Amino acid sequence: MIFEVEKIREEFPILKSQVGKYPLIYLDNGATSEKPQCVIDRIQKYYEEENANIHRGVHHLSQISTDNYEKARKIIQSYLNARFDHEIIFTKGTTDGINLVASSFGKLLKEGDEVLITEMEHHSNIVPWHMLVEEKGIVVKYIPLKQNGELDLSTLDELLTDRTKLLSITHISNSLGTINPIKEVIEKAHQNGTKVLIDAAQSLQHTKVDVQELDCDLLVFSGHKVFGPTGVGILYGKEELLNELPPYQGGGDMIKTVSMERTTYNDLPHKFEAGTPNIVGGIALGTALEWLSGFDMEQVEAYEHELLLYATKRIKEIEGVKIYGEAEHKSAVLSFLVENIHPYDIGTLLNQQGVAVRTGHHCTQPIMDFYSIPGTIRASFSFYNTKEEIDQFITALQKAVNMLGA
Ligand code: PLP
Repeated sequence: MIFEVEKIREEFPILKSQVGKYPLIYLDNGATSEKPQCVIDRIQKYYEEENANIHRGVHHLSQISTDNYEKARKIIQSYLNARFDHEIIFTKGTTDGINLVASSFGKLLKEGDEVLITEMEHHSNIVPWHMLVEEKGIVVKYIPLKQNGELDLSTLDELLTDRTKLLSITHISNSLGTINPIKEVIEKAHQNGTKVLIDAAQSLQHTKVDVQELDCDLLVFSGHKVFGPTGVGILYGKEELLNELPPYQGGGDMIKTVSMERTTYNDLPHKFEAGTPNIVGGIALGTALEWLSGFDMEQVEAYEHELLLYATKRIKEIEGVKIYGEAEHKSAVLSFLVENIHPYDIGTLLNQQGVAVRTGHHCTQPIMDFYSIPGTIRASFSFYNTKEEIDQFITALQKAVNMLGA
């Protein structure tokens, strides 16, 4: 194997933890990733040596802090291959980024305009559009799911109409692992004159994302899922579009001038960054992506795929297991149920054996409705996981199933 997993694991102090008498087996990477030492150190260094508010001070610390924050923006620009650093907007995360777009882009929408999403979206890519249905009378349409967890893209021509102003679609499903062919979808949408927002919450930690190659208009992701801190994320947008969009929140930093009568707005990226941001979060997100750029993402993908195939094969040895999400192109996510056992009971017994998985609807209730199930048990892998951990997970799962008497 070209991949030195044990060396990578050494960089993650939390992976050495115990849960009671069991070693931690962390298989909840879809919810959040663990953090390498360099990210943890960067946060500590910031508070010990650099803390000051940015963009406003002429003093030493403020300049250092501002420089490092703007340096992080450039790292992120380069990681995504965006054309300009001002196309990178710091947000609180994916949810915040989508809400920013819904609020801002939403101001330009009129009654009857359509936003096209899919049946596999996370709630954060459904609810903001529902809110616009209430506020503006827009129409939300859905690309339907197929039984195997892929999207039925044969419907796309019919669903894209002259009123479809935006297509907002997840790259990778957090519940099913499906990798959507977004490049083709973007191309189709553009032929229709429709802008495209990509939810990349489950992407960068597993695969290379190049916004110019994809030609997406907007893209969002969360820092905490890509080995960075919580409370920070990114909205990428093409310069021209971001310039057309009205600001989202008003306050400090996003203004050029304020008089008693009126406000003029700042240039990109500041127009969308009102108030004091998560400064250390932005800087440490830069560190996380710098760290990630040290890996060959094709190797990461290949290794994670190996983990997925192995886990899929092993879990099928357990009687009564049904897997949800069997797309041809699939990320390392295993969503499943065991016949006649509630997912929560399995999750609890796995936890008692040190295995961290997620149970429930994973903020994708329409997917659960599609399969007529209340939720699933989800094991989601990262490239610091190992086959030995999968073996331990399967042993723990078999024990749980035996105890619960399926
Ligand atoms: N979209 C997808 C596909 C996700 O997996 C998640 C989180 O699980 C989100 C959006 C929301 O991300 P956050 O809670 O970091 O804003």
